[in-house]
Amino acid sequence: MRFSGFSVLRNALTGQSGWTPHWRKASPKPAYDVIIIGGGGHGLATAYYLAKEFGVTNVAVLEKGWVGSGNVGRNTTIIRSNYMLPGNIPFYEFSMKLWEGLEQDFNYNAMVSQRGVLNLYHSDGQRDAYVRRGNAMRLHGVDAELLDRDGVRAIAPYLDFDNARFPIQGGLLHRRGGTARHDAVVWGYARGADARGVDIIENCEVTGFRMDDGRVVGVETTRGPIGAKTVGMAVAGNSSKVAALAGLRLPIESHVLQAFVSEGVKPLIDTVITFGAGHFYISQSDKGGLVFGGDLDPFPSYAQRGSLSTFADVTENAMALMPMIGRLRILRSWGGIMDMSMDGSPIIDETPVDGLYLNGGWCYGGFKATPASGFCFAHLLARGTPHPAAAAYRLDRFATGRVIDEKGVGPSPNLH
Ligand SMILES: Cc1cc2nc3c(=O)[nH]c(=O)nc-3n(C[C@H](O)[C@H](O)[C@H](O)COP(=O)(O)OP(=O)(O)OC[C@H]3O[C@@H](n4cnc5c(N)ncnc54)[C@H](O)[C@@H]3O)c2cc1C
Repeated sequence: MRFSGFSVLRNALTGQSGWTPHWRKASPKPAYDVIIIGGGGHGLATAYYLAKEFGVTNVAVLEKGWVGSGNVGRNTTIIRSNYMLPGNIPFYEFSMKLWEGLEQDFNYNAMVSQRGVLNLYHSDGQRDAYVRRGNAMRLHGVDAELLDRDGVRAIAPYLDFDNARFPIQGGLLHRRGGTARHDAVVWGYARGADARGVDIIENCEVTGFRMDDGRVVGVETTRGPIGAKTVGMAVAGNSSKVAALAGLRLPIESHVLQAFVSEGVKPLIDTVITFGAGHFYISQSDKGGLVFGGDLDPFPSYAQRGSLSTFADVTENAMALMPMIGRLRILRSWGGIMDMSMDGSPIIDETPVDGLYLNGGWCYGGFKATPASGFCFAHLLARGTPHPAAAAYRLDRFATGRVIDEKGVGPSPNLH
């Protein structure tokens, strides 16, 4: 089934009876060439690109819950490539380029909206840091514009420019950044992978690894053992737990990150805005709700709900940035388990266990990375060598000291 203007019209005239399920309810086969653990955005994007770009179709994606039940269905949907460090910019820009053609590529409306991402600055020092970041971006072919106060006012006149503690001096604008509909992204990848023969097996938790002479030859699951020549982990907040089943200890901590949505209001914010004096980001969904978030909870946790102290901190940030938000009611909030690496950057690499590969450590930034992460992990699984865009995301960088510390705060996951 392909989506097109014609198919929408035909179904409108025939009682919407022509739509078929997006993917089959596959049952596990005895063995596959590749098993991917985790049916989130990264796992399904990996399966999609394995089949589409590398011709590997004897693939199963094993998901312990349902497709989209993890962070891919819980995030604040921001996509951007406004990074600064050499290891990061090419990867996130590769991802942005894939976003720009994604809907045509997998024939699904993922509501990719390049509405711009505006990072505010509130001091001379912060402006200088943004000039440096903007120059690094431009050197790598990423768009960046430094705005003064009037430039920001033209985009977002409702901000508190003269806040006594954090007056707004200007902002760094990344026009090609924006948002995408998070669950449509994972559904689009699932649909595209399934159409190319990938088995998506939901309610199938991996509980152990089958080993032969130190090599992974399959997995134990709640639906029985399944053999595999190659196994890739893409389980986000559960990375440490799943890796421990193979005897691995990862440089990753799991923390909860919360998101909040207000009641719907008329169009107000037509870009993504981040507060420079705290950790706070906000955009408006197409349904009208203001979608926002801030820091993750500072302590490790596997609970998919957050603490009140972080909620208070996020709303204080919101009030400092745009006091009129205090008149709105919060409609919903939720939490997701984040896989925070020790330098705040991801890992796409082989592990010390033969046949077992890792995609994890995505921290706050994994949604925007979904297309490139899937592409690069598929490259690694199919060819056994890192994709050039992800060449810096090696696991051994924590041993060699070649960390990619975008924020410069050292091995403190809660500060990234
Ligand atoms: C509140 C919040 C806001 C965020 N905002 C943004 C944002 O604005 N922009 C951005 O770029 N990123 C954001 N992120 C981060 C982003 O959502 C994640 O980094 C990304 O979704 C992680 O990759 P994933 O989609 O594969 O993870 P997930 O969707 O979590 O997929 C992992 C899957 O693995 C499954 N699994 C776990 N253990 C097993 C097992 N043993 N067996 C089988 N399956 C298993 C889980 O059930 C899950 O479905 C946010 C995250 C949260 C929580």
